[in-house]
Amino acid sequence: MPSALAPGLYLVATPIGNLRDITLRALDVLGHVDLVLAEDTRMSRRLFDAHGLLPKCTAYHEHNADKRREKVLGELEEGARIALISDAGTPLISDPGYKLVREAARRGIDVFAIPGPSAALAALTVSALPTDKFFFAGFLPPKSAARQRALERFVSIPSSLVFYESPARIEASLADMAEVFGPRPAALARELTKRFETLYRAPLDQLGALIPEDEKRGEMVVVVGPPDENTQWDTEQVDQALREALTDQSLKSAVDEVTQMCGLARREVYRRALDLRQSS
Ligand code: SAM
Repeated sequence: MPSALAPGLYLVATPIGNLRDITLRALDVLGHVDLVLAEDTRMSRRLFDAHGLLPKCTAYHEHNADKRREKVLGELEEGARIALISDAGTPLISDPGYKLVREAARRGIDVFAIPGPSAALAALTVSALPTDKFFFAGFLPPKSAARQRALERFVSIPSSLVFYESPARIEASLADMAEVFGPRPAALARELTKRFETLYRAPLDQLGALIPEDEKRGEMVVVVGPPDENTQWDTEQVDQALREALTDQSLKSAVDEVTQMCGLARREVYRRALDLRQSS
């Protein structure tokens, strides 16, 4: 360690799979702090063993954080050097720590970032989708109706969207995304940096079908490209096309036809078609 470690809270990023994805500075900090707060101490032990570290380590996770926080803050106020790590990647990113950092900041305790891996950024960079602007959406609600409502709030965001998803829900989530966003380009990054790392890139409506049954497990990130403003029709164009299609087609086939052309989600086209039919 080049200079003594200052008192404060250290947010240390750890690997998302490959145990060698850890910075030299992270190793320095984990080797010199007074205490490491870890989401799962057994998981962290694997990391410590791989790098010959023997820090004092205690559990800090969503179930005990409210109880532990006050004691940790007290120790920090007395000048302790404490690191926070999660099971994988950057702490606080869909992981515990936000309230601890907020309270530390409020009390004037120094908080230091020790940056490193995060699955969101790793997936975004390999997705081959625009990286100049992106929106990190974290985990979606588990139930379909709530998930679709959540997705609808993201429809008009003019940037790539990054989602964490569990393998148990990936199929249903991709189907909901295809319904709400239409056939936007997308990517699914699975088991990044690990032995069975895989990456699929396809329009949202085809992505689910590409994933073999035996790969619907492991850790996954879904990246969805931004809406294509060049191919997306405005509402007047959509309504005009629907009016014409509805003169000689059923509601369903009119909606299918216009959805194919307009670059909007089927759901949105369907809603407009219903409005038109009611007002005619
Ligand atoms: N704090 C972590 C980070 O910075 O990436 C994320 C923690 S969150 C509880 C765990 C989710 O991250 C997983 O469900 C998955 O969506 C994603 N994830 C973590 N590791 C991954 C990996 N190696 N490959 C793909 N996705 C991963």
